[in-house]
Amino acid sequence: MINRQKLRNLTVIASICLAVLAAGAAGLFNGWNRSLGDIRMALSPTPSTGKIVFVAVDARSLAAVGAWPWSRSVHADLLNRLIDLGAGDILLDFDFAFPADIPGDAALEQALDRAGGSVYLAVFEQNADLSDTGSRHRNLPLDRFATRSWPALVNVETDATGLVRDYPVGAELAGSYLPSAAAMLANDFGTEGTSFEINFSIAPGSIPVISAIDLLNGSVPLDAISGKSVVVGASAVELADQLAIPVHGIVPGPLIHILAAETLSRSLSPGWLRTEWVTLMLAVCCLLLQSVARNRAKATLIGGAIGLAAIEACAMVSFHAATLHVPTAQLYPGLAAYCLWSVLRTLNASQLLLVRANGEAQNTLRLLERVLDDSTDSIIVFSEDGTVLRHSASARDLFGVDTHLDIPAPLLRRVMTDASDTPKGTRLIDLTLKGATRTLEYQISYSELDLPSDSRRGSDRTRIATLVARDVTEIQEQERHIAYLSNYDERSGALRRNAFLTLLEMRLAQGTSTAILVVALDRLKTINVTLGRDVGDAVIRAVVQRLEGSDRMLSAPARLSGTQFAVFVESNVTRKDADRLAASILDLLSQAYRLHEAVAHIGLCIGYRYVEAATDLTASLALEHAEEALDTAKLHGKRLTSFDPSAWQMQRQARRIESAMEAALEQGEFQLHYQPQLCLASGRLIGAEALIRWNSPELGTVYPDAFIDIAETTGFIVELGRWSLERAAQDALRLPADLAVAVNVSGIQIMRDGFASEVEAILSKVGLPPERLCLELTETVLLTSVSTILETMQDLNFLGLTWALDDFGTGFSSLAYLSRMPLDKIKLDKSFTLNLEEDPTVRPILQATSDLCQNLGFKLLCEGVETETQLDILRAERCAEGQGYLFGRPMPINQLLIRASGTASTA
Ligand code: C2E
Ligand code: CA
Ligand code: CA
Repeated sequence: MINRQKLRNLTVIASICLAVLAAGAAGLFNGWNRSLGDIRMALSPTPSTGKIVFVAVDARSLAAVGAWPWSRSVHADLLNRLIDLGAGDILLDFDFAFPADIPGDAALEQALDRAGGSVYLAVFEQNADLSDTGSRHRNLPLDRFATRSWPALVNVETDATGLVRDYPVGAELAGSYLPSAAAMLANDFGTEGTSFEINFSIAPGSIPVISAIDLLNGSVPLDAISGKSVVVGASAVELADQLAIPVHGIVPGPLIHILAAETLSRSLSPGWLRTEWVTLMLAVCCLLLQSVARNRAKATLIGGAIGLAAIEACAMVSFHAATLHVPTAQLYPGLAAYCLWSVLRTLNASQLLLVRANGEAQNTLRLLERVLDDSTDSIIVFSEDGTVLRHSASARDLFGVDTHLDIPAPLLRRVMTDASDTPKGTRLIDLTLKGATRTLEYQISYSELDLPSDSRRGSDRTRIATLVARDVTEIQEQERHIAYLSNYDERSGALRRNAFLTLLEMRLAQGTSTAILVVALDRLKTINVTLGRDVGDAVIRAVVQRLEGSDRMLSAPARLSGTQFAVFVESNVTRKDADRLAASILDLLSQAYRLHEAVAHIGLCIGYRYVEAATDLTASLALEHAEEALDTAKLHGKRLTSFDPSAWQMQRQARRIESAMEAALEQGEFQLHYQPQLCLASGRLIGAEALIRWNSPELGTVYPDAFIDIAETTGFIVELGRWSLERAAQDALRLPADLAVAVNVSGIQIMRDGFASEVEAILSKVGLPPERLCLELTETVLLTSVSTILETMQDLNFLGLTWALDDFGTGFSSLAYLSRMPLDKIKLDKSFTLNLEEDPTVRPILQATSDLCQNLGFKLLCEGVETETQLDILRAERCAEGQGYLFGRPMPINQLLIRASGTASTA
């Protein structure tokens, strides 16, 4: 598995190799490589073979023979001498392009003839002028010489640095191919047109040189020339045939031909290893360094240097043994880059981190000192023996006396004695500081510390204690005040509701009987307005004071709202005690209040709840009961009322009904039941009364007596009544056409404007003939504004609809009104029918009602017929119609439909 680190290293090495390879290909290292090659050549000098001799026209020769150019007869003499000494091939490196003195040219011609084709004459090309852009001029020997010799190219080129390095094998010149001088001398013509590198390890100093004048004087021994090739040329500086070469500096031109010839004949021309191999070496070297030095800077650097030296040594051996140059230049930047990267990374990882860590530690220390100094809490660090080691500036403010800290003994004792196993967290202590009692909140923590120690004995760990303290005197006072405010009403000094409930809860938990009293002040608003708010506030305080001072058995008074106060009885009381106590408090509080110049009388009432022993009543419910009793007292204009559980239940039920009713209509929880109405004479079904039912998922079946009154108070009856009318009209359509449906109408409904048109609209919408609808109106409704009701009744009667007067006999119907009403029938209240048999006073009433109906032309319907006896009496008293459990209980419409389609008579 190659981990990420290794992968990164490999990537870096590969990148470096690729970079140097590219740079090498771009020729960036060429110069560098040549210089290295030169060094290798200088370090491995090779002597020449000595088989090529340089006959130099040196300064001495010039001085002896005279002014240059010499007569060609001198050249001829030189040639003849060489022939005489048995020289092999001879190169004359002079310019024979132009004719000179006639005898000299002729002498040379003869000498060339004598040489018999073993002479090479120099041919070269040069610029025609100095401009460097102009044409090239070729210097060829005169024909008379050329035909008697071999042409040899003596041109050499310099490289960019002005050094002669390469030497041609031959070149195209004037349309024909000419071998170079060295190729001729070496008798090796290589590949046409190519050039080769001269091996400069061949020491020019080892090439035999003979001065031309010595040769002319005949002082050269035979063996110096015999069998050897000879190059005759200039060496004197003034002849300007000097060229610069690597390793050896400036040398005479002819020597270069000899060096080149030696190189060629001995196959010593240096070759170059391909750079890819060197790149490979670089890669291997880097990898080795990687695995050996392992990111240690020094090791990497030393390793890199050793690697480089080793490769250079190999390059040296390679050149020496095989004349093969290794282009090692790219190793230098490559290895340098690798080492740099490696060293930098190592520095990053260790030294840089160390440097930074040191910096951070310093910063942290400074920061801690700063925190200590700036802390608003007093921080003091104690040594094991209680000496103050460090302290914050705020500690000086708190404990400072003159120049030192004066830690009060009780606190110091805690610092010194508190074991580390005492519970952590803040604690409070009251201390006398600078003469005043202050409350401090403090925390002590202990820690083991390594101390810098130069002693070699024992442990150098010590325990220190850190005290963090803060003066909370003011904060505590504020907290106490806030706590007071949250429990007490600031204006009256009485408890707030929540605090009162808490105390009451505790009292109820004792399990003995008690009583909760709630007092409501009546005329406080009037006092506020007439005598001013201050007087009003004073009254409130006075009330609270009277409550506090009234009875030792009473709890602290609470102010529940602006004008309501509550107390409960602390001791065990009987119901009678409670009644008496309530009455006495009422008496006490009702007495006039004398406040400064004003005398105020206030009205008040009290509601109270007696609580038996061992109740499971909660405080809030008990208080609610007392408040409920107070409301009842107010409602009935009483000054003192005790809680009535049954009224409470009813009220609760009423409240539940009130809140649930409206949604119930939307959710279709209302239903109409129908109670049959019969003709008593024939027993025939003549119609049915629609009676509303509420099937509540929470409350069960709710009967109208439980919710009609509430619906009337809230006004919901209007909506509910409209629904009843429409539903009943729709149901009526399903009944046989001779049956009518009676619907109860509330006074609230009929008193509203537009009731008549509303009924009319429903009838026409449903399509029920008005004759089939009877509206029942209770007698009590008539007590209110008769005229409006009469108008509505008449309007609807005109339409064809009939009216029945419900619950007749329970109200105070005036005969005068009755006669004016468009009534169809009167329904005698069921209380009469039900008592018909027991109560002897009922039958005369029945008779009178029957007579009345006869006179006014109304039908008489008796409700509540439950027995056959009742039925008999009703028949005897000429009562036309009847309704009651005897004929049938209120039933769903489907049952009524069966009944109507079955028998038409039941009687
Ligand atoms: P109500 O108009 O006097 O209706 C007759 C009541 O007497 C019905 O009570 C019925 O169930 C009961 N009743 C009938 N026959 C007998 C009997 O033989 N013996 C006894 N003991 N009772 C009998 P319910 O249904 O509880 O209705 C109570 C009242 O609610 C009705 O008195 C009526 O005033 C009112 N009500 C019912 N439905 C509606 C309605 O849709 N709109 C309005 N505004 N009021 C309605
Ligand atoms: Ca009725
Ligand atoms: Ca009735």
